[in-house]
Amino acid sequence: MTKTECFGIPFDDGEPIEIIENALSLIGSDKGVYAVTPNPEIVMAAMKDPALREAILSADLILPDGVGMIWASKILGRPLYHRLPGIDFASGLMKELAERGGSVYLLGAKPGVAQLAGENLSRRFPGLRIAGTHHGYDSSTEETALTDEIRRSGAELLLVCLGSPRQELWMKSYSPVLPGVLMIGLGGALDVFSGRIRRAPLLWRRLGLEWLFRLLQEPKRITRMIRLPGILRAAMKERGRKKA
Ligand code: UDP
Repeated sequence: MTKTECFGIPFDDGEPIEIIENALSLIGSDKGVYAVTPNPEIVMAAMKDPALREAILSADLILPDGVGMIWASKILGRPLYHRLPGIDFASGLMKELAERGGSVYLLGAKPGVAQLAGENLSRRFPGLRIAGTHHGYDSSTEETALTDEIRRSGAELLLVCLGSPRQELWMKSYSPVLPGVLMIGLGGALDVFSGRIRRAPLLWRRLGLEWLFRLLQEPKRITRMIRLPGILRAAMKERGRKKA
């Protein structure tokens, strides 16, 4: 595993198995640890939002998500060689946890979605304990009652799916009160695990077209996606500055 800096963010780059083993080794630490999975949209938001940037820089693991990050890193001349989408990272961790009877808590998404995701995940990873679920649309996601519940549940892994920047800020704020827990900020992953949203077929993913598949399923994302080439322009600008 190596650190590769892009836009001032030290990304962790390594074989998926290495990343997963490293993350598993962080479970049980005396304070909560967390992983962020910035995609181009999050990286661009962090350029303008110091609190988000700080939450990313304080993470224990920073994994690039989205093919745009890989392209941008190449333009910068500091290529990221591996891409482990957040959803595959979480699936890899849950597979390993299931083998040792470990547990996961699912936080976020619309009411009912996390529960459905939990049912699917326990079928997909027999042995995995769903320690609890909580949707992401009431103010109690900010309260100590929730962190108490998560602590009492004995969860080792916590999927924080509140959208960005809320999920990154949430993990930074609450990691000190969740010792032993590994958290991952995963955006819309619970919508996928619940079956509410379909993930792109493997071929589309291999071709780097996951974003297009998502756009076809959720056309209203166009207003967000239209901004994505911005990361490539930012990379070209930074490279130009470095050369000058
Ligand atoms: N969400 C939430 N609470 C909020 C805002 C968003 O739980 O206050 C959830 C939303 O339902 C969705 C996820 O956070 O499941 C954000 O998904 P999005 O598609 O924006 O994230 P991406 O996968 O693009 O990072």
